[in-house]
This record gives sequence, C-alpha cells and structure tokens, in this order.
Amino acid sequence: MNELDKIRHLEKTSRLLEPEQSTRAYWQSQTNAYAEAFIQGRDERKAYECSAGSGLGLFESPIQEKPMGIEAVLKLVETSIDPSGIDLTSSRHFGYIPGGALYPAALGDFLAAISNKYAGSFFANPGSVRLENQLIRWIADLMGYPETAAGNLTSGGSIAHLIAITAAREELKLKAKDYHRAVIYVSAQTHHSVLKGLTVAGMREAQIRYIPVDKSYRMQTAQLPAMIEKDRKKGLIPFMLVATAGTTEVGAIDDLDALADVCEQKKVWFHVDAAYGGFYILCEEVASRLKGIERSDSFIIDPHKGLFLPYGSGVVVVRDKRHILAANSYHANYMQDALQDEELDPASLSPELSKHFRGLRLWMPLKLFGLKPFRAALAEKVYLARYFYKQIQQIQGYEVGPFPDISVVLFRYIPGEGDTNEVNRALVKALLEDGRVFLSTTTIEGRYYLRLAVGAYRTHLQDVQLCLQILKEFTARL
Ligand SMILES: *Cc1c(COP(=O)(O)O)cnc(C)c1O
Repeated sequence: MNELDKIRHLEKTSRLLEPEQSTRAYWQSQTNAYAEAFIQGRDERKAYECSAGSGLGLFESPIQEKPMGIEAVLKLVETSIDPSGIDLTSSRHFGYIPGGALYPAALGDFLAAISNKYAGSFFANPGSVRLENQLIRWIADLMGYPETAAGNLTSGGSIAHLIAITAAREELKLKAKDYHRAVIYVSAQTHHSVLKGLTVAGMREAQIRYIPVDKSYRMQTAQLPAMIEKDRKKGLIPFMLVATAGTTEVGAIDDLDALADVCEQKKVWFHVDAAYGGFYILCEEVASRLKGIERSDSFIIDPHKGLFLPYGSGVVVVRDKRHILAANSYHANYMQDALQDEELDPASLSPELSKHFRGLRLWMPLKLFGLKPFRAALAEKVYLARYFYKQIQQIQGYEVGPFPDISVVLFRYIPGEGDTNEVNRALVKALLEDGRVFLSTTTIEGRYYLRLAVGAYRTHLQDVQLCLQILKEFTARL
C-alpha cells in the first residue's frame, strides 16, 4: 500500500470518531432519558445504599477494540456506578456540604465540551476568559475586594488553597532555604486541605501553630499577637494565618474582623477559607458574620458547596493580583501571541495550562435562575439547621453542640446507661443500614458526635422532619 492509500484507509476508520447527526441525536436522547429517570427516581432511592454492589461489574467490561452500544454503556452506569454509596442528589443527604448539582450546570458542561473553547488565554478565546473573569470579579465584589484583585476558577477548594499559599509565599519572596522558618497559624478546625496544600507547595518543613479555639470552636485571638511576636523574635517568619468562615466539622465562623486586626498589625498574610460559608454572604442571616473577609489577602470559596454546583468547582481570589501572577505566570515562546491581552489569562493564575472551561457550568445556573432563589435556598438551609437544633433537643436524651453559625448541627444521644460513644456508634450504624437519611459523624475531644449538614438545595422542611422522626424511632429502639 502506498502512503496515500494508507492515509485513505486509515481515514475510513478514524472517521468513526465523527458520528452522524442521527447517531448524535440517538445517543443524546438515550442519555437524556437515563438522566431524567435518575432525577425522577430520586425520592424512591435511599440517601445511602450499602448493599448495591461496589462497581465490580465494570471490570467485566474491559476497554476493547470494538465499540459498545449506548444502551449497554448506560446499563453499566446504572448497575455499577449509580446505585451504591451516597446519593449526592438526595434531599435526605445530610452528610457533607456539597449540595446536589444544579441541572443547568450540566448543560453548561455539555456546551463547554461541545465547543471546547480554551478558557486559559484571552487570545485563544476572549469570551470564555471574559466570562470566567467576570464570575471571579462578581465573587470578589461580593466579598468587598478592591479592583486590584484577581483569581481563578479551580477544581475545588484544595487547589484554591494551594494557589493562595503560593501567592502568599511570593509576597514574602520566601525561598526553599526559608521554609523551615516560615510559620503558618491555623486551628484544630482548619480543613486538612490547607496543610496538604502546604505540603504540595514544597513547604512541608514550615512550622504549624495550632491556635486554641473557644467553646464555639472559633479561633481565639487574645494570645495571637504575642505568639506571632515571640515567633518573630526567635528568628522565624510568620507567614500566613488561616481563618475559616464556616468550618467543615462544626460550621463555625471565626471572628474575621479581629483576626484581620491581628494580621494587619503583625503583617501576616490573612487567608480566609470560605469554601463552605462564603456564599452565605448572599443571605442576611449570615452576611454580617462574614465581616472582615474584605480585609483578607486571599480567600477561597466553593461553588460546589454554597452554589450547589456539581463537584469540580472552587474559586481562589487574591487581593493583589501581582502575587498570584508571580506564583503562576510562565511564558513559553509558542505562546507569544498571548502576551498583550485586555484580560488576565486564567493560565497565568493557576498551575493548569490546558483547562476545562468550567466557568460555563457556574454561569448557566446564575443566568437561568437569577440570584433570588440562591439567596432563598441559603437562608432556608440556615433556618432548617436552627429548626433541627431546637427540635432534636425536644427528643428525650439528645444533647447538642453549639448553636449553628450556618447549617451544620452537632448532636449526640446520651443513654441512661452504657458507653455514650458506643451507643452513638450503634445508632449511626443502624441509620446507615436503614439509608433513608444520610448523616456523618465526627469526634471532638474524645466525644463522638452525629453531624447534620443541611447543604443540599433539594432539602426542605419535610426532609428535616423525616430525619427527626427517624432519630426518634431509632432511639426508642436502642
Ligand atoms: C470542602 C472544604 C475544603 C476543601 O475543598 P474541596 O473543594 O473539597 O477541595 C476546604 N475547606 C473547607 C472549610 C471546606 O468545607
């Protein structure tokens, strides 16, 4: 076969990657029908399913040369992926904060994958970059940041932390030889992704100071200035303080204004982890508690929590864009066309180069719904948590943690006799086997707590009432 024949021969097979309109329409309609059945079957499904297999069926269907029909492919999704574990789309999912995945976000992902616009550089696609920067600008404005700010849409809070840490490092121009003298101030409530980010940034040797928390699990501020001063006197470099606006474990909001005072006075980078609590600034019930975030040097926030997007949506914003640029910008010769742009390039503000156009999945729901229902949904979650907090205390034997700052409630059952932790563990085991509601747990200072996180947009009063009723039934049986 000569070369041209070979090319023509290959083309015949490679064109299989370009299905015709009728095939596309068929795949689309089958997928859509499956998705609709999934959404509509939600109320019948358990929030947690522990007996529907563990996906091993996938291994019986290895990747092969020959294709498979859409029906068989969707069947694999139906039998091996969707039935088991936690149903994140359930209205009775109270385990974690990510809340449900809004439908228009899927449409945004669909369009982004169809056009495959490159949202990394303004030159490659101005519109997608403007859209992403507009979303970041909107979030920066919500928090009261100045015009100097810049940020990035990340895959989640963890990468957002990593970017903030590297920006803070650039501000101080820390070198590897300084890392063992760098000090980061956190609390026991700080999310582990902060320390993971520090490790990934190569700063494993940095000193970590755990600031004690008060009874409401908020970072104590009184001793902090003296502590920072002492570190400085020892020749260490106080580098970053991480406050949390809504801790994952108990939902506590640190006193951001007081911490901003300390950081300003002591010249320490003030970073706020608002992954969970940040978007609650949209409801007046919580907004005033976030005061002080506008004084931070950087913050992170997760649309896949507070704006109910599917997983894979975080945001980092840095007050002074020079630092985030210093940590991430890199010029290669083959990108020289991209140098004189009106908008900052997302690829210069993130470790990613080729990136998903993730702005569209955030923009579609915001445009199609407008902000009003988001504000209502967030306020509703706050009131549902408060309602649960009150009602659970009406059931004989229950004890609660602190009043919820946002939408997480800690509680446990105090039995008449027997080991309290053991009894609560048995209660959780029974709840998981039942599966109608899904709750998570945590252990604080040796006390095992159940944890109700009201974070899903589909969760309404009837779901919280069902949860209370189930808890009542189960404790009667204990
Ligand atoms: C979820 C969460 C994180 C981690 O974010 P991911 O999006 O899961 O990477 C960090 N901090 C807080 C307070 C969180 O709730």
